[in-house]
Amino acid sequence: MSTHPTMYTSHVISKKYIAQDTLEIHLARPSDFVFQAGQFVQVIIEQDDRQFVRSYSLSSTPTDSDIELCIKLMPEGIGSNFFRSIEVENTIQIRGPYGRFIYPSSDGSCIFVATGAGLAPIMSILRDILEHDKTIQSLYLLFGVRHMSDIFWHDRLEELHTKFPQFSYDITLSRPESDTWNGFTGRVVDHLYKTPREAKNFFLCGNPSMVQDVRKLIIDRGTPQNQIYLEVF
Ligand SMILES: Cc1cc2nc3c(=O)[nH]c(=O)nc-3n(C[C@H](O)[C@H](O)[C@H](O)COP(=O)(O)OP(=O)(O)OC[C@H]3O[C@@H](n4cnc5c(N)ncnc54)[C@H](O)[C@@H]3O)c2cc1C
Repeated sequence: MSTHPTMYTSHVISKKYIAQDTLEIHLARPSDFVFQAGQFVQVIIEQDDRQFVRSYSLSSTPTDSDIELCIKLMPEGIGSNFFRSIEVENTIQIRGPYGRFIYPSSDGSCIFVATGAGLAPIMSILRDILEHDKTIQSLYLLFGVRHMSDIFWHDRLEELHTKFPQFSYDITLSRPESDTWNGFTGRVVDHLYKTPREAKNFFLCGNPSMVQDVRKLIIDRGTPQNQIYLEVF
C-alpha cells in the first residue's frame, strides 16, 4: 500500500444529481488506494488525442469502501462535460492521492468554511473526525451557496448533527429568492463573527475570493497562520 500518487483504473458505481449542476459520483475503490481525509485525486481525461487533467477532492473517508466525488458542473468545462456524459460501469483513470488539506489529529475545536463543491473535502474531514476522533470538542461548519437549489447534502449534515451533538452547522444563501428560507443569507464572511472565537483550527475550501476574505478576517481576529488550512478551487 502506498500514499505516493499512483495511477489507478477504476469504474463508476453510481452517478446522481444532488443539486442543480452538482453531481455525486461513486467510484470503485482500488484495494491499494490509501488516502487521508481532505486529499484529492487527478482525473485523466482523453479527448481529441489530447490528455487533460482535472483535480477533484475525495468526499468519502479513508475507511469508506467506495471513492466519492462531488462535481460542480461548469458550462462547457472539459472535466464537467466528461462527468456529464460518464455512465455507470464506464472506466475512469485517476491519479493520487494529493494534497495537504489534512486535519492535524486531535486538536480541540475546529471551524470549517465551505462554498459550493468546497464542501467535498470538508465532508471527508468532518466525517473522519466525528467517526474516529472521540477527543474532539466541537466542530462548526458554515456552508455557503448561491440559491436554495444549490444546497446539497443537507440531509447528511442534519444526520451528523443529530448523531454527533458536538457538530453544528449553518447554511447561508448569497442570493435567496424565496421567502421560505429561514437560514442565514449573505456571504459566509458576513457570518463569521458569530462563530466561536476559541476555535483552534480553521479549514477553508471554495472559491478564491471567499478563501481570501475569510483568511484575512480570521488573521485580523488573531488566528495564527499555522492554524489555517486552505484549499482553493
Ligand atoms: C485541489 C483541487 C480540488 C478540487 N476539487 C474539486 C471538487 O471536489 N469538485 C469540483 O467540482 N471541482 C473541484 N476542483 C475544480 C476542478 O479541478 C475544475 O477546475 C473544475 O471542475 C472546472 O473544470 P472543467 O474542466 O469543468 O472546466 P475548464 O475546462 O477548466 O473551464 C472552466 C470554466 O471556464 C470556461 N472556459 C474554459 N475555457 C474558456 C475560454 N477560453 N474562454 C472563456 N471561458 C472558458 C469553461 O466554460 C468553464 O466554465 C478542484 C480544484 C483543485 C485545484
